[in-house]
Amino acid sequence: MTASPLQRVGAFALAALAGVGRPDDVTGEVLAGVVEKMTSHLVGTVKVAKAADLGGFWLGASYLLWPNSKLNPTARGKQSPPEREKLIREWRARPDLAGWPGVPCAYCGRAACDWYGKVDIPLGASVAHRNTTAPGHEGTPLCYPCVASLWAFPYGASLSGGRAALMHSWDDDFLARMTRSTVDQTLQDAAAGPSKGAKPGPYARELWVLRAVRAYSRRITSGVELIVLSNSNKEQLLATQELGQPVAEWLRSINRWPDRRAGYPALVAAQQSKQVPGEAFLAKRAFTRPAQVVDFAIGHVLGQISPKVLIPAETTALAPLLYSYCREVLTMDDKDVERIKELAGRLAALLGQDSRPGPFRDFIRANSKGGNLHGWFRSKGVDWLLFPRPNGTPPVLLPIQDYRLLFEDERSWSWRRLLVFAVLEALAEAGWEPKGSQEEFQEIKELADAAGEGQEEGAEQ
Ligand SMILES: [Zn+2]
Repeated sequence: MTASPLQRVGAFALAALAGVGRPDDVTGEVLAGVVEKMTSHLVGTVKVAKAADLGGFWLGASYLLWPNSKLNPTARGKQSPPEREKLIREWRARPDLAGWPGVPCAYCGRAACDWYGKVDIPLGASVAHRNTTAPGHEGTPLCYPCVASLWAFPYGASLSGGRAALMHSWDDDFLARMTRSTVDQTLQDAAAGPSKGAKPGPYARELWVLRAVRAYSRRITSGVELIVLSNSNKEQLLATQELGQPVAEWLRSINRWPDRRAGYPALVAAQQSKQVPGEAFLAKRAFTRPAQVVDFAIGHVLGQISPKVLIPAETTALAPLLYSYCREVLTMDDKDVERIKELAGRLAALLGQDSRPGPFRDFIRANSKGGNLHGWFRSKGVDWLLFPRPNGTPPVLLPIQDYRLLFEDERSWSWRRLLVFAVLEALAEAGWEPKGSQEEFQEIKELADAAGEGQEEGAEQ
């Protein structure tokens, strides 16, 4: 195992193809056997005329993985199947010990067996992410296990749309499990023949990672990288993005907690847009802007407020997910989250003391664009003093620590969002049933829509 993600994925793919537990077990005869297996897959293409024909899977993949290789030379059309097979076998043969260059492998430091270049070393596999060889150099020296790992990594990748997509993690158990299932899928795809599968939806690769993470049964101890690459002559591409360990582990945890699992459909629904399904957008945001997951969920809840329903039903379902996300992913302090929930309890007592919707409307307005939350608290602080407060609640509505979170903290905006949500939740819990005129309710709906749309501002922070 080396520091190169592609080599690591390849090493686990070798183990999966060989049917052994760990890359360490791929030695001697086992290594020779698994390289022969891969070579036989490539040899399976020699009678195929075009990549789109049955049996052409690896010929098709070769343009993206191994351009200008012995599998797809310009003269391929003029070669007979036996000639094609001979060239492929020469390419993949283990070099004779007598011809080894006497230098260490660039990846692992063992004795290299030959010099290799772009055909065998895909973009992203080299240390500097460059796979071109400077003029006058013979290439990169590699040992046979390392070059075999590079030949094997495509089995551990999803090959579609002219790209190879891989999941990589420094969590070896996770990587082993994911690579094994990807290898199974690749072998199935290769055997199935050409298919005009449905066009993948938006963020399909991010969604692929999200689903893999959610289905995994053990704790994930390291982030999960999504690497998308192409080695083709037409397009050289290498893009890496990471799903951080906290969000990966949180996504995985959903199935382990009944209350989180029960709220997941509501979370997914809260992430969708007109163009992008909810789970795909959740995956995308988890990779690029994890804080947006909460912003969009709360914005969505506010958007559900209608003249008929002032407290949307999703509120209760989302609560366990949003609070745990704030703590576990956004690392908002436990004590501070509790502080906001307690403040929300006091506000709910104040706003829901009778069935008039007016005080609730004023709170939503104070949280809308251009609203004055600071001023609102100043006037409500007086109400709170005069109000018959529930037992055990402090006489001060907004203690200094709460004030700091909402108005002076670098994440003020997130705390305010959370407060709005927690107030809705507390009112739902109290079973508050407001009574008012159609006009009053319509006004609240419009204010809530305006408050919900504030998410872009939050996304900037
Ligand atoms: Zn090596």
